[in-house]
Amino acid sequence: MAAEALKCRECKTEYPLEAHYVCERCFGPLEVSYAHKPVTDVAEARRRIQAGPQSVWRYADFLPLAGGPPQVGLPAGCTPLIKADLLAERLGIKEVWVKNDTANPTHSFKDRVVSVATARARELGFEVLACASTGNLANAVAAQAAALGMESYVFIPANLEEQKILATGVYGTNVVAIHGNYDDVNRLCTEVSGEREGWAFVNVNMRPYYAEGSKTIAYEIAEQLGWETPDRIVSPIASGSLFTKIAKGFEEWLELGLITGSLPKMNGAQATGCSPVAQAYEAGHDVCRPVKPDTIAKSLAIGNPADGPYAVELARRSDGGVTAVTDDEIRAGIRLLAETTGIFTETAGGVTTAVLQKLAEQGEIGSDERVVIVITGDGLKTLDAVRDTFETHTIDPTFDAFEDAFAIGAAK
Ligand SMILES: *Cc1c(COP(=O)(O)O)cnc(C)c1O
Ligand SMILES: [Zn+2]
Repeated sequence: MAAEALKCRECKTEYPLEAHYVCERCFGPLEVSYAHKPVTDVAEARRRIQAGPQSVWRYADFLPLAGGPPQVGLPAGCTPLIKADLLAERLGIKEVWVKNDTANPTHSFKDRVVSVATARARELGFEVLACASTGNLANAVAAQAAALGMESYVFIPANLEEQKILATGVYGTNVVAIHGNYDDVNRLCTEVSGEREGWAFVNVNMRPYYAEGSKTIAYEIAEQLGWETPDRIVSPIASGSLFTKIAKGFEEWLELGLITGSLPKMNGAQATGCSPVAQAYEAGHDVCRPVKPDTIAKSLAIGNPADGPYAVELARRSDGGVTAVTDDEIRAGIRLLAETTGIFTETAGGVTTAVLQKLAEQGEIGSDERVVIVITGDGLKTLDAVRDTFETHTIDPTFDAFEDAFAIGAAK
């Protein structure tokens, strides 16, 4: 495997590719580092990827697996990249593309990170899967465990959307609902993971491998655009893992010469009711002050984001930004995307679309830009967000009643 070590993001100390996630020297987070052979024949390297499976495993050479692509489990990735001309026209942007990650097995991008973390966990001999989740990760872990015949435990805040709890419990997992918010859930899981040997918490002790799964979104976008980077990415931020790893994916492939272009401007999207990263960015701070979340965007409701400082740094370095939008703007964002593309997203995608709209209105987006928005979860997961945002015409089953309701006769 090209993955070489786990490396501390702060002091660069290296560790073996096992279930470590925090540096013993400085408590910094660990990240997978690679020693890729230089790509001498770009066309051949691209062909090799294209001949691979229709899933994230076509990128197995760039993921931390010793044994190559797994033959079992629920495959994730290879989701559509859709040109959204009506949305672009509405916002006065030249080109907008939607990376539709609702088209994953459990309808969010979390299937990607779970596939990679689980594959590595199995190589390391773990028998039980677990996670600390804001909802979608619980869906993905429960389904992946079911597909592999593994036992699983998913820890969630008790006040999650009912749709997400139902769509998790159905897989026969152990649903542990905590009286508290995500940050409480995460703290408990860190404690449990220290006590339960043989348990792979995909986003705690397996976090470095989990994080690598998000890179596959960047690989796919570049491949789908004809081996080119877009000019700008708009992506939601919860812990900041997805946002920062999308950039890592582009940077790895740019360095290998597999794609042309440069690192896109990276714009992060948060809900005003939980915007520690946007606040730090606005204030010019390097670290994020923890907040107590209060927003309908529950999948993004992480008050103390682990990768927050790296997200702020990336937004600055790439000439992007981090923007927050209100719950009303999120609802309007869901409607805007649905009405102009036919894609129904959960609240996190409402955040992303609303931030795109805001950037367009503020004149932040250049007249010749190609922008990709990353839509990370399906609208059926958060139905309450669109309740009462439209009218249903309830009528008697007669033509007169229909004419009355739509006033077609009067218009004549
Ligand atoms: C988890 C999640 C995110 C982003 O999570 P990060 O912790 O920032 O990687 C975005 N959208 C949805 C729908 C999610 O479930
Ligand atoms: Zn360190």
